[in-house]
Amino acid sequence: MMKSVNPVTGESFQNYEIFSEKGVEKIINSVDKSWHSWRKTSFFHRSQMMQNLASLLKSKKEELARLMAHEMGKVLHEGIAEIEKCAWVCEYYAENAESFLENEIIDSDFSSSYVSYQPIGTILAVMPWNFPFWQVFRFAAPTVMAGNTAVLKHASNVPGCALAIEDLFREAGFPENVFRTLLIGSKQVESVIKHHAIKAVSLTGSTPAGKSVASVAGSVMKKCVLELGGSDPYLILEDADLVSAAKTCATGRLVNAGQSCIGAKRFIVTETVYPEFLEYFTQEMMKAEYGDPCEPEITMGPLARIDLRDELHRQVTDSVKMGAEVIIGGEKPNMKGAFYPPTILENVNPGMPAYDEELFGPVASVIRVKNETEAIRVANDSVFGLGAAVFTRDLKKGERIAETQLQAGCCFVNDFVKSDPRIPFGGIKESGFGRELSSHGIKEFMNVKTVAVK
Ligand code: NDP
Repeated sequence: MMKSVNPVTGESFQNYEIFSEKGVEKIINSVDKSWHSWRKTSFFHRSQMMQNLASLLKSKKEELARLMAHEMGKVLHEGIAEIEKCAWVCEYYAENAESFLENEIIDSDFSSSYVSYQPIGTILAVMPWNFPFWQVFRFAAPTVMAGNTAVLKHASNVPGCALAIEDLFREAGFPENVFRTLLIGSKQVESVIKHHAIKAVSLTGSTPAGKSVASVAGSVMKKCVLELGGSDPYLILEDADLVSAAKTCATGRLVNAGQSCIGAKRFIVTETVYPEFLEYFTQEMMKAEYGDPCEPEITMGPLARIDLRDELHRQVTDSVKMGAEVIIGGEKPNMKGAFYPPTILENVNPGMPAYDEELFGPVASVIRVKNETEAIRVANDSVFGLGAAVFTRDLKKGERIAETQLQAGCCFVNDFVKSDPRIPFGGIKESGFGRELSSHGIKEFMNVKTVAVK
């Protein structure tokens, strides 16, 4: 049985039957069958459906935000913004998929030679609970617009969101089996990847989950795109606008109660501005009001599950035992639910969970460094390489550091890292490989076919 549990109360409010092996087999075969006709439809037809889907999302944004609040604790205004962003990615690919996938003519010795982007079939998406709609739509909009079909294995704590997404596709007018949800646990993923009709897999989630999916996909020679964890470094250089940097850093740390792969996680501050930055940053972090995500004055909800909150607290207490110091927070609040206060740790050093691991919640690790060179070294001293940001008034220097020095897939200057349909998104090192969004994302699950005519 799969359960929806409200992280505010810890109580389950809905149960769902896990799909049987036979049921899963039947759905995958239907989606595969549907691919043979879907791939022949025109871009115009697909984009009409996609535009319907965008309108539908917009019309249901309050209802869907409430579903997220109940299943994983997202505050309502963030939930509404998430649904609006899903509508945007649908519109973006409705408008651009055809031009992204136009044939590319190549000058050669043949009378004609070109690259043609051909869909490959049914793609499996394994998705997490932190942005239960956005993570799915940023995969699904390009995939379906490109002429592929999709099955979704969503995180086990958001089955209501998983089924709502399938319903949205149906209601928007897509054929029944272009996008289907499988309510299955992670143990069933291996057999789905190995199913002959599944041609590739996209996973967003933790690095261990990514490694497991990549090894299964590798064993059957299927492509995967992996968008995994991160421990994004934010470099505060001595010429930074500290007030604005502190505000941006706190926002980047607290979005979605700190449960974002591209959340700002390590704040690496040069020593001349360290005390001043820490003071401003602390003030900003303390502004967060945590509580029931459905209350309008609340800016931060609970974490998505009690076990995730307890694991975060363990990372904090272990780091403190090893010498980290708590500036604010660091205690489990004496209230029901998966709440955790905004927390700042300083004196964070290698070997501590707060330095080495992903902190998936509202906990900031602040690290003091001598200068820019050491800041860059510390930033890159991580197994992760998803996002990074640098704060400086010298834009040329910021750009140079972002472009050539930081080992990450997405490097921003004077802003927190965010995803945008127009900009490619993804990581390096243990943060995964492959890209989502933009013209790069839509080409991941295509046969980049060479055609040459003598
Ligand atoms: P997971 O990475 O375990 O879950 C993400 C998705 O992967 C879920 O659908 C999950 O299914 C599935 N999954 C997990 N293990 C496997 C596997 N071996 N094979 C196939 N699929 C698998 O996240 P958790 O919910 O357990 O969170 C744990 C930690 O992961 C967090 O504290 C955070 O650090 C990190 N995380 C990072 C995310 C990111 O965006 N970077 C997103 C989510 C988590 P099921 O739910 O059924 O287990």
